[in-house]
Parts: sequence; C-alpha cells; structure tokens
Amino acid sequence: MRQKIVAGNWKMNKNSEETEDLINELIDKLPTDLETTVIIAPTFVNLASAVDHTEFTHIRVAAQNMHQAEGGAFTGEISADMLKSIGVDIVIIGHSERRAYFHETDALLANKVETALKHDMTVIFCFGEELKDRSTKSHFNIVENQLRDGLFNLPESAWANIVLAYEPVWAIGTGETATPEQAQEMHEFIREIVRKQYGSTIADTVSILYGGSVKPDNAREIFSKPDVDGGLIGGAALKADDFVAIAEAI
Ligand code: PEP
Repeated sequence: MRQKIVAGNWKMNKNSEETEDLINELIDKLPTDLETTVIIAPTFVNLASAVDHTEFTHIRVAAQNMHQAEGGAFTGEISADMLKSIGVDIVIIGHSERRAYFHETDALLANKVETALKHDMTVIFCFGEELKDRSTKSHFNIVENQLRDGLFNLPESAWANIVLAYEPVWAIGTGETATPEQAQEMHEFIREIVRKQYGSTIADTVSILYGGSVKPDNAREIFSKPDVDGGLIGGAALKADDFVAIAEAI
C-alpha cells in the first residue's frame, strides 16, 4: 500500500516561539482521524522542541538537510546520528534550493542518501527539472538522470525508506503550479522507470509526492491524480489553516 503523505518544508522560517505556535495550531486543527501521514520540517535549531511538542500527536518531524559524513571537522554541519539522537528519523535530501544555492550535486546527494539509510532514516528525495529543461523538452531525461544518479545504486531493500518528491523548479515558490495533468504525466513516468529498474512491488508501493505552489485551492485536483500520493509543501505550510486544508484534500 502506498502511503498518502503531506510534508511541510518550513525552510528558513519561524523562530522558536513561532515554531511552537504553529505546531500548537496544527495540533488543534488537524483532524485526529486523518489517514494521511503529516510531516513538518522546521529548521535545525527548532527540531528538538518540535519533536517534544508533537510527541503524543500523529505529526512527524523531519530535517531539511543533513551532512553525508558520520562526524568530524565540518563546521556548521549536522550529522544523521545527531538527528537520530533527538528523535528525528526523516530527512529531506536534494531540495532544489540545496542543489542551486549550495551546489549539491547528484553524486553528493547519493552519498547523503546512503548515510541517512545507514542510520535507518526515511529519505524524502527531491528532484525536478528547471523551466529551460521543459522548454527544450528534456524534462523527462533530466528527471530520469536525477533519479538514476541519486537513487538507482540502492539495493531493493532500501526502497522501504524512500519517498520521492517531484518538484519542478519552475513551480517552487513562484505561484506557478504544474497542471494536474503535467504532474500525473511525470509521476507516471517516474513510477515506470522505478518499475523498469526495481520491479512492480517497489514501483507500486513507493510514494511519489508533488511539490510546487500547492495551495488549498489546487491541492484536491492535483492529489486526485492516480500517481500523486501527496505533496511537499513550502509557502502554504507556514499557515496552519492552509496546511490543514491541503492535508484534508488528499
Ligand atoms: C518547496 O520548496 O518544496 C515547495 C514546494 O515550495 P512552494 O510550495 O512554496 O512552491
């Protein structure tokens, strides 16, 4: 069974008090019988308090990034072990902002995925084409290469801990959303290349999230597509009412 997931990437937003307030609002407003897995990814400094605050709820907490090394002289970085030690066992890897602003390459991301899996973490692996790739009709190739380079060296057993997040870069934070048909077309393509590489059991059970300007007014239509299993949400995850409406739209 594929899991339905809605994950909120808070990016570099919300200080300690604001994090607590937003979590409290989410706890109040999220229906307790929701079958969708709800994940929030606050900043590193607020992860420990987020884990504490969500302890007796069904909200799960993820990190937005981690370093690939086990530890050592990497000033300013955070390891998988550190995350696990405060109760965080989900990590977003390969977000387009990490790829663009911090020059994270496919090879580096493959390394991070490997380290996260070694620590029994679940990886939300992000990938997606830029606008120029879509205009030159190379978007399918780009996406296939990102997947091959980032994940296709993994053994079959690793896929139980992988969630895919297709995020066309041109739709992130721009207000521009892929149409539900564009999202479905790409998600179906992604599932097919996973099928070719790993077989139907993995292809049919891996969750594929869509990310890129998902809002309460477009979520239902995007999530209604058969190969879209939920969303990775940026801007709209910062407002409890919007995030809850999106979670309820699955
Ligand atoms: C994101 O950054 O992962 C994202 C999907 O952002 P937004 O929803 O704001 O486009």
